[in-house]
Amino acid sequence: MDGYEARRREMVETQIAARGIDDPRILSAFLRVPRHLFVPASERVYAYSDQPLPIGHGQTISQPYIVAEMCALARLEGGERVLEVGTGSGYAAAILSHLAAEIYSVERIGVLAEHAAKLLRDQGYENVQVLHGDGYRGLPEHAAFDAVILSAAPPEVPSPLLEQLSPGGRLIAPVGRENQYLQVYRKTEKGFQRRIYGAVRFVEMKHGFS
Ligand code: SAH
Repeated sequence: MDGYEARRREMVETQIAARGIDDPRILSAFLRVPRHLFVPASERVYAYSDQPLPIGHGQTISQPYIVAEMCALARLEGGERVLEVGTGSGYAAAILSHLAAEIYSVERIGVLAEHAAKLLRDQGYENVQVLHGDGYRGLPEHAAFDAVILSAAPPEVPSPLLEQLSPGGRLIAPVGRENQYLQVYRKTEKGFQRRIYGAVRFVEMKHGFS
């Protein structure tokens, strides 16, 4: 067991399980993904601490617990096709790859998309595709999705993302400008059911790509 593995175990126990996430599949995914490889070398000592960390370009890798909470809200069982908006480091995509069948992750900053794609490929995450583009339009060419997870906060939920949900599918998103709340939309026969959860703090979801 390397030092990172011990710290990862502690992270899962104290930050995720202790806060009420008990799905063994989710806990196992967090035990398996080496978070220290998804942060810059200068941040590596903090890789398993209870916080977001800078990954360059003004962006951050999310706090582990919030990634776990969003995965729990998505209720993934293993066979799903998932869209993530905001690949960033690729960490959340790596976690999702253990929880669902096919992951499409879109990132608007080209260098981040390239870096994450290479990292995921080198580590053998074969069911993840990273695409460079603007997540506001979703990925109509790969729709429909059983779950859509936003790793950046739009002022309101972009309608193309709701349209790309499959029947029964769920969209999990931080929504708002200064004050953001985690929201879950579920597509039912009668339309969308929405539930609003606690306050969160994500980077802004921006338009266009570079
Ligand atoms: N899930 C990431 C979190 C990265 S932070 C991780 O685990 O590291 C959010 C990311 O969303 C940033 O990289 C940012 O560039 C990206 N982003 C913001 N607006 C976007 C958009 N419209 N389309 C795609 N990605 C976007």
